[in-house]
Amino acid sequence: MRRAKAIRVSFAANNFYARWRQQCGIVPALHEGDGPPPERLLQAIWQQQRLRRDRLRTLDGRVVRILHPGFLSVEGGPDFCGAVLQFDDEPPVSGDLEVDLHVNGWKAHGHDRNPNFRTVILQVVWSAPGKTAEGPPVLSVAEALDAPLSELAEWLGGDAAPTLPEEFRGRCAAPLRELGEEQVQELLRQAALVRLRGKAAQLAARARESGWEQSLWEGLFRALGYKHNPWPMQRLAELRPRWTYGAKTTVELQTRLLGIGNLLPPELTRSRPEADGFVRRLWDRWWREQNAFGDCQLPRSLWRLHGIRPINHPQRRLALAAHWLVDRKLISAIERWGVTEDAPRLSKILQPPQDEFWTTHLTLRSAKSARPQPLLGEARVTDLAMNVILPWLWARAAEGRNPAIQAAIEKRYCEWPAGEDNSVLKRARQRLLGGTGIKRFRTAASQQGLLQIIRDFCDHSNAVCDHCRFPELVRGWQVDGQAEGKP
Ligand code: SF4
Repeated sequence: MRRAKAIRVSFAANNFYARWRQQCGIVPALHEGDGPPPERLLQAIWQQQRLRRDRLRTLDGRVVRILHPGFLSVEGGPDFCGAVLQFDDEPPVSGDLEVDLHVNGWKAHGHDRNPNFRTVILQVVWSAPGKTAEGPPVLSVAEALDAPLSELAEWLGGDAAPTLPEEFRGRCAAPLRELGEEQVQELLRQAALVRLRGKAAQLAARARESGWEQSLWEGLFRALGYKHNPWPMQRLAELRPRWTYGAKTTVELQTRLLGIGNLLPPELTRSRPEADGFVRRLWDRWWREQNAFGDCQLPRSLWRLHGIRPINHPQRRLALAAHWLVDRKLISAIERWGVTEDAPRLSKILQPPQDEFWTTHLTLRSAKSARPQPLLGEARVTDLAMNVILPWLWARAAEGRNPAIQAAIEKRYCEWPAGEDNSVLKRARQRLLGGTGIKRFRTAASQQGLLQIIRDFCDHSNAVCDHCRFPELVRGWQVDGQAEGKP
């Protein structure tokens, strides 16, 4: 433990972002016209606050001030999350918002019965005939627009307003704008290295409990769960000694993973003979085995399958995992890749051979696709490398006290090309960097650095940046160091 502390101290000595986290107390937290407009336009009006904001009242007569309109949600649930509102002179409240054309949308869309909508503190509607007895407070905006609807439709309908208005950007946007491009990149790089070590520490901790190989498998499975299903995937990985016992072929492993995961379809499609034929084969095996695994089968409700693209379906990810598991040389190939410059590319190591079913079917209920679909896309390779494989290799090198390999892995980590863009990164670019385009984020490390800043600072503050020390740290860095850590 003393050695780990010493490593942390020396890392912080060379990484100003790590010192910022220590100063802010973030490190301890690591331990644990006519008719209504289209709804999309109404959302854009709300997002850009094209309202006469000083005269907003709910239908029950209370003054409502919009301290922050919240962030447009891209994942189902309420339309905006994290809004901060003040009703009359009451203390500000944070919560979610639902935008509906009509006040009766609340019941008509089933929001009143949906637990995901319990956090809604305001329903924003185009117009409402009168008071409502049920649901959250209601704000009608038809009479509160700051310009004619036709003008707003022109402005908001295209790309004219892709960024948050200046007043809704984070407080750090101004000092970050003052930094030169090299300084911004250095800041993101140092934050990314903090992230690499954090993930490495997590994998090392698991390795202490269950060994390095199991730690890697758990990391890979969690990553295959994407953001929606890391926990059922983690559980399946924890059960690996059970379901790998005596299984030698890909189809045997697929059967057990899908069976224990409770992801085998209970019924055939009756219209897609190839999918039905494959499912029958899996069920034939599973009938014989299910009693042996009954005590560890996952409840189907553990999976979040709604809204998942077929290409990302957990059935498909488990099929990929089965291929990896049958390849007894996979772990050593990954290890060799970590220490050898001329080893095959990681995507080649991880891409399984063509699969008799999965190369032409996205899920167990999909029709045969005309084009082959590899089980592993290039974007997923980046996720696996940045979140699991490079941190795991780094942790092993740290345990083996091999600074040269650690440095080589950090170099790979920092130079890895950028992964897929996503809504979290887009929102952060708008909030922190004033809508900076994607071109500035050419490496996956710059994306990881931005995610680390969100985690360290934005996640500990609110939409109006209360008590966030990041802006002052950036300003101090600019002044002192014209400076400190400046490349
Ligand atoms: S919470 Fe902090 S880091 Fe996040 S946008 Fe606001 S000032 Fe920036």
